[in-house]
Amino acid sequence: MPHIPMVKFSGARKEYGNIVAVKNLSLEVAPGECFGFLGPNGAGKTTAIKMLAGLLVPTAGSVAVDGHDVQAEPEEAKAVIGFVPDKPFIYEKLTGREFLDFVLDIHGFPRGKAAKKRAELLEMFSLTEWQEELVESYSHGMKQKLVITGALIHDPKLLVIDEPMVGLDPYGHTLVKGLFRKMCEEGNSVFMSTHTLAVAQELCHRVAIIEKGEIVAIGTVAELREKAQSDSEQLEAIFLKLTSPSQ
Ligand code: ATP
Repeated sequence: MPHIPMVKFSGARKEYGNIVAVKNLSLEVAPGECFGFLGPNGAGKTTAIKMLAGLLVPTAGSVAVDGHDVQAEPEEAKAVIGFVPDKPFIYEKLTGREFLDFVLDIHGFPRGKAAKKRAELLEMFSLTEWQEELVESYSHGMKQKLVITGALIHDPKLLVIDEPMVGLDPYGHTLVKGLFRKMCEEGNSVFMSTHTLAVAQELCHRVAIIEKGEIVAIGTVAELREKAQSDSEQLEAIFLKLTSPSQ
């Protein structure tokens, strides 16, 4: 059987008026791979992620998820994805349970089929006792945990997550890292953008560094170290060598 990448950007470009946010982006992420997308502020990470999630239409080129072109087959592509945006929106007047039911209904995923997964995720994130409470009473970190639960509840093959650790305490970090590892061990993929380079270094099989809408380096941390001609084991030092601060 031919190898189908879980994510495939093919010459994707996005312009906002005169601003070219993403230029000719091509990359593939394999099933089972945890992939990190790094870059200075304004580099184009969120724009690329929004094209991947089907929220922005590329000006040129295309993006495919598990063999489905996100523009041509949006429902097939979105069925495969669990998405956590950088600024998640949750209806504050729903309870946690109602929010999760809403997410399942959008995916056309039977609520009963998700019962076990829902219970597991809520327990893992210490939200079981909070599920009948309104989201407006949740802390920032609890909301982030609920959004991650919502992204995982339909058993996606691909988790797309923009800044996974925002708002989470160290327990949350550890939990989320364990979840990502497990997802990838089971043959699923994670595509994350992050400024937390230690997380990328610890979790990601490969990372891409994007600057001004273009990939400046892609590979394992060891490969990037070689490209940057850096002695450092630390991704942060490599990142600083390969990029310059945004204006
Ligand atoms: P950060 O790390 O700061 O979140 P990023 O790498 O996610 O940045 P993007 O948010 O994708 O970067 O932005 C890339 C470029 O596109 C920036 O120059 C930004 O100002 C511009 N941009 C993003 N969204 C819009 C928009 N809706 N309209 C116009 N320009 C935009």
